[in-house]
Parts: sequence; structure tokens; C-alpha cells
Amino acid sequence: MEDGADEHSRIAPWAPPRARRRLAWLESALGGLDADGVAKAAGEALAGHLRRFGEDGIVLYAGTNTMSARARAACEPALASRPSMGWPGEKFQTGLEELDVLEVLAPLQVAAVMGGGFAEVRLQSATLANLACYTALARPGDTVAVLPEAAGGHASHHAQGAAGVRGLRVVDLPYDAGGFDVDHAALPGFLRAHRPALVVVGASLMLFPHDVSRIRAACDEVGALLVYDASHVAGLIAGKRFQRPLDEGAHVVTMSTYKSFGGPPGSAVVTRDEEIARRVSEAAYPGLTANYDASRLAPLAVTAAELAEDGPAYADRCLANATALAAALAGEGFAVVAAERGWTASHHVAVDAAAFGGGDEAARRLAAGGVFLSGIGLPGQAPGEPMRGLRIGTQEVTRRGLGPDAMRGIAVLARRLLIDAEDPAKVLPDAVALRRP
Ligand SMILES: *Cc1c(COP(=O)(O)O)cnc(C)c1O
Repeated sequence: MEDGADEHSRIAPWAPPRARRRLAWLESALGGLDADGVAKAAGEALAGHLRRFGEDGIVLYAGTNTMSARARAACEPALASRPSMGWPGEKFQTGLEELDVLEVLAPLQVAAVMGGGFAEVRLQSATLANLACYTALARPGDTVAVLPEAAGGHASHHAQGAAGVRGLRVVDLPYDAGGFDVDHAALPGFLRAHRPALVVVGASLMLFPHDVSRIRAACDEVGALLVYDASHVAGLIAGKRFQRPLDEGAHVVTMSTYKSFGGPPGSAVVTRDEEIARRVSEAAYPGLTANYDASRLAPLAVTAAELAEDGPAYADRCLANATALAAALAGEGFAVVAAERGWTASHHVAVDAAAFGGGDEAARRLAAGGVFLSGIGLPGQAPGEPMRGLRIGTQEVTRRGLGPDAMRGIAVLARRLLIDAEDPAKVLPDAVALRRP
């Protein structure tokens, strides 16, 4: 449908060719609408999205989730445009006593479930949470040591992202690709050589826990603070599975609130250290936000409170589904990463997709058959090689009630789409049927 379109995009004439084709097609279909036309097009897009992901699709993208019914019921978009600046009792605006309640509920619940004493919950993304840590805990020109990109080190850890925005010098931590962790033998010497202010661990692919206490011991030798980016695994941590980074010695945990945590979009920065909390709070406001979207707070508080109650059962179901899916994929003939270690200790599974043209190509083929996920770099892949892996997260299908039998069905769909190279149009109805038995 996008083929043959004029490849000139008005929105992003600099975008790569595939994006330019898609943009140009949409721009010609959607340009010049009046207000009714815009409302209609937006409404149809929303309905289509809700049908595709909410009803029909098998969503295995690792960085998303669906909120619980109670959390959804607590969402009120009107709050998003109510600026609420400063502390309850001493706000710039008047008449916000009800928002005060939300501003207390959310940090109390999030701090408690993550095992911390303080939670900064106003920042609208984990990228900003990381930037707040860089702002609070390092100065421009300081060094931050982060996981290499092929090991899932996030853009916000690297020079092209928030670390670079803060003017930090970024160095890659020594990494043990087979151990899926920092190279612990090399770490102390590396830290002595580079003397970073901050060490950041936690990645976009988290098959196994980090040895946090060992990394902390090496950080202590050089006076570095240890930041654990729990964006992907916060829901498991809340469920007291996988690992408890603050118990194990991380100074700070940053996290996305909408991935495995399963809440509204946004982030939290959690710590036990009052001085770190004070500095992060000042970085958040007045540093990086003024109005901060208070509509996130009620669903966030509800999500955290629910995880305190049923987080362990939810985490167990996510882990069981990940293991079942990994085993089934291996059984169908896929090269599942870390077979020698039982594939995964989290809700993530990674598949080596080099045989299918890499992670991006494989993800596109799966999407045509109703299965949605993404590519990812794999630890140990050659530098410059396109993303070799497919990344799978089981958190959303778990919340939607799918269990190990459905995971075996998903592995069959993936085999038909990728290994058998069956026509995706023939597979799609079976994917929809699996989602809605
Ligand atoms: C997703 C992710 C982030 C960024 O989260 P946003 O809320 O999208 O800004 C940061 N760090 C890691 C490790 C992530 O996976």
C-alpha cells in the first residue's frame, strides 16, 4: 500500500528510505483535513490500535504492558493539564488538596514495593529518570561507565542519549558475553583506570540478574555510585523475583513504570539514601520538569499497591511463560540464546535471528502474522553487525491470561512464519484464534 508513493516526506525529509515511504504515504492520505476530518482519522486510528493490540494481536514486545482494570479505572486525563508544582502544603498553585493525596500515595507505594525509602515519581520517562540521576549525581565532564549497546545498554546510558546531553564522558564497562554480566574479573582494574562518578547497570535485554553486590564492592573502591536501571525488570523486582537491587547494594534504582511493572507511562527513581533522594528530587523539580502530568499518579499508586499484593504470583507466571516459550521455540528449531543456562531467569527470551536476516527482518515477518515484538542486539555479536536478536517479553500475554499451552502455540506460529516461511496471511487467523480461544 505504501509502494509507489512519492518518497518526499514533509515531516522528516531526512528520514531513512523505508520511513520516508511510509511518512509520505500517510502525509498524502492525511494532509489538509478539517477538524472533523482530523477527529475522525484519529478516532479510527485509536479503534484500530485497540483492536490490533487489545483484542487480536499477540503482543510480545518487551517494553510494554496492559494496565489492570483498577489502574485503568484510576486514569483521568483531565489531571494531566493541572500543574502542581512544589510540595503538598507549600504549592505554587492553590486548590490542589486532592492532588496532594495522589502525590503522597504514589511515592509511598512505589518506594515500598521496590524496597526503597524514597521514590521520585514525577518524571515522565525512564530516560528522564536517568538524566535526573546524571544531573543529581555527576557533573559535566565526569565519567559514567555503562553497559555496551550490544549488551542492551540503553540509549539513555550512552553518549547519543541522556548521558551525552549531561555532558558526561561515557565508557563501556568490560562485559562477559557468555556470563550475561559485567566482566567481574576485569571490573576493579577498569574502574581504577577510568574513575567514573557513576556506574550504570541494567539493560534492555535482561535474561539473568547482575551480581550487584560484587559490582558495588568494586564501585566502593573508587567511590563510584551504582545506578541499577530496572526499566524492564521492575515488575519482577516488585514481585520479589529475579533480584532486589537495593538489598544487594545499588545506590539508586531507575525504572520505567509501564513495562513489566504494568502501570501508566512514566518512571521512578528509588533509593534508600536521603541525600541522593534530595538531589534527585531537585533535579526532577525544578530541574527537569514543572508541570509533570499528575494523571499518572493514581494508576501508578494502584499498580504498585497491587504488585505488593499479587506481584509474586504475577512474576512467577511471567517467568513460567518465558521458560515455556523458550523451551517450545527451541523445540521448534529456533536458536534460543543462553540454552546452556536454561535460556532465561526473567520474563525475557532472546532468539538468534541471523538465519532470518536479523532481528528487524524477523520482527517484520512476525508482525505480518499477528505477533508483535522487536529486534535487539545480542551480547557477543560483531561490532557494526545489524541487530542479530529477537527480543521477547511475556509480561503482557501473561497479564492477558495466556499460559504455557498458549506459549507452545505461539512457538508454532513463529516456526510457521520464520522457519517454514509460510504466507503470513495464512498464519494471521490462527494467531487471532490463539489470542481469543
Ligand atoms: C526502556 C528503557 C529506558 C527508557 O524508558 P523510557 O520510559 O522509554 O524513556 C531506559 N532504560 C532502559 C534499560 C530501558 O529498557
